[in-house]
Amino acid sequence: MIKDDIISYRKMCDIENVQTLQRGMNFRLNPNYSVILMSQRKNAPYTDQIIEDELKIIYEGHDIPKTKDIDNPKKYDQPLKTKTGKLTENGKFVESVNNYKKGKMPERIRVYEKIFPGVWSYRGLFNLIDYQHIISEDRKVFRFELKLTEHEIDETILLKQRSRIIPTEVKMEVWKRDGGKCVICKATDELHFDHDIPYSKGGSSITVENVKILCARHNLSKSDKIE
Ligand SMILES: [Zn+2]
Repeated sequence: MIKDDIISYRKMCDIENVQTLQRGMNFRLNPNYSVILMSQRKNAPYTDQIIEDELKIIYEGHDIPKTKDIDNPKKYDQPLKTKTGKLTENGKFVESVNNYKKGKMPERIRVYEKIFPGVWSYRGLFNLIDYQHIISEDRKVFRFELKLTEHEIDETILLKQRSRIIPTEVKMEVWKRDGGKCVICKATDELHFDHDIPYSKGGSSITVENVKILCARHNLSKSDKIE
């Protein structure tokens, strides 16, 4: 799996070897890493942001669950522990940051971003490096800071030098226009957002016009021809 791969919800669950992914925060979903699901869509329940040219993500912690007594979780502080005293996902993320600051390895986190219902884009492997506990609209929330792992930073800088970072708004438009299919063969699996402007032409800004959806086969056959 590489950055900007488009995958269905089902495929995402298969990759992570789970039946369902219901929660946004999944600490140690795998023995080696955690998984978060993020969204920058307008009606998203949390404020998540990708910043610094995709090198960092600010990820909002999650609210207490809705229950009979709690009809609006947004009125309550985001919890560090459950009623029975166990760490919540926020709590586990915070603990992990504290351990990192004491010299342990940072928690590795795979990040998936929702483009449309059922349609996800892989954003890469990140390190969980910091958090803030802040007041937002009269309650306390967590803001976790994730930084792209070294290996992927190299790749992203390379992509950036080639002006190949595709903004989320563009991905959403392209997905709608191309109907979620490879524009050549109409395949609906193993899809990738493909940038049309070759590096040699300096490929300036990324717009809906120069991005399209290609399946793995056509993505490969295309790169065979270049250079
Ligand atoms: Zn195709």
